[in-house]
Amino acid sequence: MNKKVLVVDDSSTMRKIIKNVLIELGIYDEFITEAVDGVDALGKVKSNNFDLILTDWNMPKMNGLTLVQNLRQLPKSEHTPIVMITTEGCREEVVSALKSGVNNYIVKPFNAEVLRNKLEPMLNKI
Ligand SMILES: [Mg+2]
Repeated sequence: MNKKVLVVDDSSTMRKIIKNVLIELGIYDEFITEAVDGVDALGKVKSNNFDLILTDWNMPKMNGLTLVQNLRQLPKSEHTPIVMITTEGCREEVVSALKSGVNNYIVKPFNAEVLRNKLEPMLNKI
């Protein structure tokens, strides 16, 4: 699948888990870009084009929520599908994530199957 995906998480283990699921779903390894925090992600979005962005919530420098707010203000990522991966399972957090423009969210801890079930329909639409 020629889809470019950005995976944003400060945990390298988490990035690896997500990346493996994406590869299982047919995304090419070389089309997956990793970023370690919101600042890193924003820089990579400015210099690349992504079809899907997966971002963690809790990260140093710039968290996922601020990242999403920034991404939605950039014309090139205004409409890019974004999935928030969060430990903040409470309703208010989810509502603020959705309000800021997240298309979908996954609550940690999750397994590969949960991730697959969320991502597969999104990947089929883009
Ligand atoms: Mg984190």
